[in-house]
Amino acid sequence: MPEIVHPLIPSILRGLKQRCPACGKGALFWRYLKVNERCPSCDHDLARYPADDGPAYLTILLVGHLVVAPLLLFPIVWESPPLYSIPILLTALLTVTLLLLPRVKGGWIGLMYALGVKDADARFHAADAAD
Ligand SMILES: [Zn+2]
Repeated sequence: MPEIVHPLIPSILRGLKQRCPACGKGALFWRYLKVNERCPSCDHDLARYPADDGPAYLTILLVGHLVVAPLLLFPIVWESPPLYSIPILLTALLTVTLLLLPRVKGGWIGLMYALGVKDADARFHAADAAD
């Protein structure tokens, strides 16, 4: 069980703002989802935090529960012709997902920073130890 080695909430909030979880000033990403090797502001090693598929799963979970499920409660979704409703809904869902994904990934990296989880820890899984 990882211990909290840095303040949890500020680290996650800095990540959600797509900033370095250590200083909150340097940019976390150099492209859409590409994490900077080092923080441009404080030179903290940002590449060591594993993100893998976690942010994608969390984004799907959030969009599915907070957007898709409530959307199905509105009758206009069911009553409008699919020729119009499906492209509009898919475009809106794609936009929400693409806007949310880098923020969730930033928050995820902030969580990894707060918990002190490094890439080297992620490579060693319990399933690997069974061999
Ligand atoms: Zn920094």
